[in-house]
Amino acid sequence: MGPMTTLRGRFAPSPTGALHAGNLRTALVAWLQARSSGGEFVLRFEDLDRLTSSPQWEQHQAGDLAALGLDWDGPPQRHSDRFDLYDAAERRLRDLDVLYPCFCTRREIAEAASAPHGPMGRYPGTCRHLDTAGRQRLAAGGRPPAWRLRAGDAEVTVRDRLHGEVTGVADDIVVRRNDGVPAYNLAVVVDDAEQDISDVVRGDDLLTITPSQAHLGDLLGYVRRTYLHVPLVVGADGQRLAKRHGAITRDQLAGRGCSDVRLRDLLAASLGLIGDGEHAELAELVDRFDVARLTTSPWVFDISTVTDLSGSA
Ligand code: GLU
Repeated sequence: MGPMTTLRGRFAPSPTGALHAGNLRTALVAWLQARSSGGEFVLRFEDLDRLTSSPQWEQHQAGDLAALGLDWDGPPQRHSDRFDLYDAAERRLRDLDVLYPCFCTRREIAEAASAPHGPMGRYPGTCRHLDTAGRQRLAAGGRPPAWRLRAGDAEVTVRDRLHGEVTGVADDIVVRRNDGVPAYNLAVVVDDAEQDISDVVRGDDLLTITPSQAHLGDLLGYVRRTYLHVPLVVGADGQRLAKRHGAITRDQLAGRGCSDVRLRDLLAASLGLIGDGEHAELAELVDRFDVARLTTSPWVFDISTVTDLSGSA
């Protein structure tokens, strides 16, 4: 495979806590996809949120990945090391005249969005059409603005290896937060392009924002990436494994007697690569990996089965 066609994947956790089983499954998919095609794999810590991100969590997350046998090429990347790139991208957007200041609070957006004819999770457009006088009046209130992209309701179709062609209307996403920090949507689009990522693998909670991110990338002149949005994990009750619903970490699984090998086998079985209760070496998983075996339905992870399985490991 020539350098132009080498697949380059990434796993991009926010270092704000321990990875849970669903994150680890997404990481395994991203890694297997890259390695099964002889491709490269980048680890990127998305640490824009300085209050919740920490080097300790980075180390912890890297340790979790390594324990499953996953490796990465080059040192881990970090949003916080790359603000110059985000600033440069923002300047290009300003030159294109596609940014506008937004003075809305979260609460105002939530209220407008949930109104009877509200835009269902999209920015309701309150500040989009402000004239100069309107902006000056709001700026005089002292609240610094965020900066949003004027997306013009562009209809964008992205390619996802699991979901097929996904079309959505690009939202007016924030590119600069009102505390002056680059917004996640800008940072992720810039990094995926500047780090030559060909394939974005991540949780499918980000599928709906993807057309908006692709539109932002188009404006910045980046080539499109291919996506693979991995379904979320739900508990036996069908509820998403959020922290409060007992999202379970590798440490917690270890506490229940579930070894790293057993955990990886559980994840591999959930990806259709081995049967339930079977074991495979990582190299075998690389050989067997096949996107066609993935399904769009959530992974039902019944934690009560883990303890039972650990005895036979
Ligand atoms: N940092 C994001 C998260 O942990 C993932 C974003 C991405 O993979 O594009 O949910």
